Amino acid sequence: MRVILLGPPGVGKGTQGRRLAAERGWPLISTGELLRDAVAQRTPLGDQARRLMDAGQLVPDGVMIGLVHDRLSQPDAVSGFVLDGFPRTVPQAEALDALLKENGLAIDSALLLSAPEDELVRRLKKRLECPVCKRAYNVASAPPRASGKCDDHPDVELVHRADDDEVTVRSRLSVYDGQTRPLIGYYKSRNRLAEVEGVGAPEDVFTRLRQALAVFVGGQ
Ligand code: AMP
Repeated sequence: MRVILLGPPGVGKGTQGRRLAAERGWPLISTGELLRDAVAQRTPLGDQARRLMDAGQLVPDGVMIGLVHDRLSQPDAVSGFVLDGFPRTVPQAEALDALLKENGLAIDSALLLSAPEDELVRRLKKRLECPVCKRAYNVASAPPRASGKCDDHPDVELVHRADDDEVTVRSRLSVYDGQTRPLIGYYKSRNRLAEVEGVGAPEDVFTRLRQALAVFVGGQ
């Protein structure tokens, strides 16, 4: 199954996507993570992307489409995937559809997570991430067992993402409104959209997400 997670920054796409991918045995493909890895490795892509990411702006469509094309060509993505953070623009969605269509495939479902904007800003300011496994924590609502350390990598210090400061978060939210929100209509008109309330305990959000997905894939 091929599933997209849609929604603003901080709504829980990574957390829920990680659960869904683990449960179904699909790879979780996060374009933000692919870019952060490229930045850390100082590749030409990373150097190009870093300034845009630090400003909360989008990396150009052509670059992103190439990156996703390469990632989806890898063997683990052949029978299904969960996409987090892609597509983020209508041209990216069109390119993804065209890419899949070449192989007689299509997106099965776009799951839209939602939460009020002040809640998103609050969450992002308190978000910590493990630089090794990318698991997200929240100092207030979902803290790690040992303060500042990843539960699964106890020697690793959790980090605050550079683009999670309030000014950059506001810019990312406005980019979402202008460039990504139109995807809601894109997938709705194709009968692929399901809305999931992203507020509450992560377990409860996951239960709702599963129910929403079952409509499209029969609970597989
Ligand atoms: P994320 O981890 O999804 O919040 O992404 C972090 C940053 O990576 C975004 O603010 C963008 O600068 C960049 N990025 C990630 N995915 C995309 C995409 N599909 N298109 C353009 N830029 C992206």
